[in-house]
Amino acid sequence: MRTRSLGRTGLQVSEIGFGGIPVMTRTAADAVAVLRRALELGISYFDTARGYGDSEVKMGRALAGEQCFVATKSSARDAEGIRKDIEDSLRNLRRECIDVYQMHHLSTKDDIAKALGSGGALEGLQQAQKQGKIRFIGVSGHNRPVLVDLVRQAGDVIDVVQTLFNPLETDALETLLPLCADSRIGIVAMKAVGGGIFDCPAASIKWILSHSEISCTDPGMATIQEVEANARVGTEDPALTDADRQAIESLRTRLTSQYCRRCGDCLPCPKGIDIVSIMIGDSLIMRMGREIYENRGFVQKLESVHECYDCEECLPKCPAGLNIPELLTLQAARIRELAGAGAG
Ligand code: SF4
Ligand code: SF4
Repeated sequence: MRTRSLGRTGLQVSEIGFGGIPVMTRTAADAVAVLRRALELGISYFDTARGYGDSEVKMGRALAGEQCFVATKSSARDAEGIRKDIEDSLRNLRRECIDVYQMHHLSTKDDIAKALGSGGALEGLQQAQKQGKIRFIGVSGHNRPVLVDLVRQAGDVIDVVQTLFNPLETDALETLLPLCADSRIGIVAMKAVGGGIFDCPAASIKWILSHSEISCTDPGMATIQEVEANARVGTEDPALTDADRQAIESLRTRLTSQYCRRCGDCLPCPKGIDIVSIMIGDSLIMRMGREIYENRGFVQKLESVHECYDCEECLPKCPAGLNIPELLTLQAARIRELAGAGAG
C-alpha cells in the first residue's frame, strides 16, 4: 500500500483510509473481521466519530494494540463538551492517545465562532493535546467556504482538514486545497464514492489520489470485498486509464444534475423542510442502515416534502444548480422504497 505524508503531522498514512460509518450496520464480529482485513492489506488510517453509533467501539475492539492511526470526531462546540467526548473516545477506542481528533461537521460561521471562541472546542482540544490525550487537531465539514474561513483563522493550529472531494465535488481545488497545501495541512478526502452511490468506486478513488495535495481518502467500508477492492487501488498502477476517464465522464453526465453536495446553503426553507437530509437520505440509509430512518425522524421529514409550494427561494442558493423541489419528491420516494416503507 502506498503511503503519503499527512501534512505537517509527519504521519505517513496509507493512501486508502478506512471510513468508519458503514461498520455501524455490521455485527461486532463482522465489523472486526472487516477492520482486521483492512489492517492486513496495509490500510493504516482509520476514521470514525462519536456520532457514528458503535463504530468507535468496534474499531477499538479490532485495532487495540495495533500499529495504525486512528482519527475520530466530536460535534461538541465547547471545551468541556469536547473534553468529555475525548475521554469517551479513548475508552471506546482502547487507546491512551488518539492520533487525530476532529471538530465534526463545522458548517456555519456560528459553528466557527463557537469552536474558536473563548471556552470553545479548539481550546478543549489544545488542552487535551498538552495532556498527551490527542496528537493532532483536525476538522471536518461539508461547506467549503466555511472550511476556508476556518483555515484562514486557525490554520496554524489545525493540522488536518477532512473535506468532500470526488469527481463530482471539485470546488475544493479552487481555494481550500491550495490554502491547506500552503500551510502544510493534511487533507483527507471524504465521500470518495459519493456516500456509496457511485458505480465506479475504483476510478473515483484513483481520480482523487491523482491530486498530490490529498494525503489520503477514506471511503466507508462495510464488507471484506469492499476493503479488498479499495485497497487494491492503493497498490496498483495509480495512472488513470482511458476506461477510468470514461467511467468518470459517464458518472458526471448521469449524476451532476442530481448530486447534492451537502453544503446546506439552501437552508432555511420557509416550510422547514430539511432539504439536505432528504437529498442524501438514500446514501444515509445505504451506509448507516435502515434504523437511521426512524432515528433521524425521516418519517416526519418525508411528510414535510408535501409542504413544498415551489416558492423557489432555495434555487438560487444552491451552488450545484439542482432542481430542489423536483428532486425532493424523487428522493422521498426513493427513501421510502429503500426503507421498505412503500412509496407514496
Ligand atoms: S421551493 Fe420548496 S423546498 Fe425550496 S424553499 Fe421553497 S418550499 Fe422550501
Ligand atoms: S441542495 Fe444544493 S444547496 Fe442544498 S445542500 Fe444540496 S448542494 Fe447544497
